[in-house]
Amino acid sequence: MKTQFNYIDENYKRIVFNLNEAKEKYNRSGENIDIMAVTKTIAPEVVNYAISSCGIKILGENRVQEYLSKKELYSPASVHFIGQLQTNKVKYIVDSVDMIQSVDSKKLALEINKHAERAKKIQNILVEVNIAGEEAKGGVSPDELTELLYELSELSNIKVCGLMTVPPVFESEKFLYDMQKIYIDISEKKIDNINMSLLSMGMSGDYETAVRYGSNMIRIGSALFGARVYK
Ligand SMILES: *Cc1c(COP(=O)(O)O)cnc(C)c1O
Repeated sequence: MKTQFNYIDENYKRIVFNLNEAKEKYNRSGENIDIMAVTKTIAPEVVNYAISSCGIKILGENRVQEYLSKKELYSPASVHFIGQLQTNKVKYIVDSVDMIQSVDSKKLALEINKHAERAKKIQNILVEVNIAGEEAKGGVSPDELTELLYELSELSNIKVCGLMTVPPVFESEKFLYDMQKIYIDISEKKIDNINMSLLSMGMSGDYETAVRYGSNMIRIGSALFGARVYK
């Protein structure tokens, strides 16, 4: 069917093609790598088109207000929160998101744990790592990561499922490499209650490289939906 959103099918086909090529190139052909659709600024009917036509199963949300205004309008999909999260906003999202990928402090984790307990759920989370130490970005520094993980391992209503990062655009490859090393190091520590099954990295500009360095969830916005007016 020809619709005004057919460009999304074309974009999605190209992403899957590139992803499969990268998997082959880096000897990961048999592995599952999830494609998250990052929905910031994108209207719900466009997101729903990607869900129904491309089979997108995971949405990535950056902003609490925007998410709350759109969530009732979305077709069924798993929602992961991926933006900087203030502690006072946690209560608005815990009941409806499947994963919070941007946890970077004990304070935030405690708040999530508290609201998850009230909601009678175990909240899946990823710990965000600020791999290049950039001021403007969220994420725990690599130096403080292990200690934070030990602290989070004691909280009974959150479950750490892996790590997430947003490397700098211009030196992405070096930092994707560093991130893979950290992910492997942490996995080998086998911390109680800490599950290292997800490495969420790779965006429109670097997802093929992220596949090289072990990502198993790529987060795609503009390559799927087109350029955004603002970030
Ligand atoms: C916006 C965003 C993305 C997607 O960025 P694109 O370059 O448009 O693919 C991925 N992850 C996070 C955390 C984002 O904020």
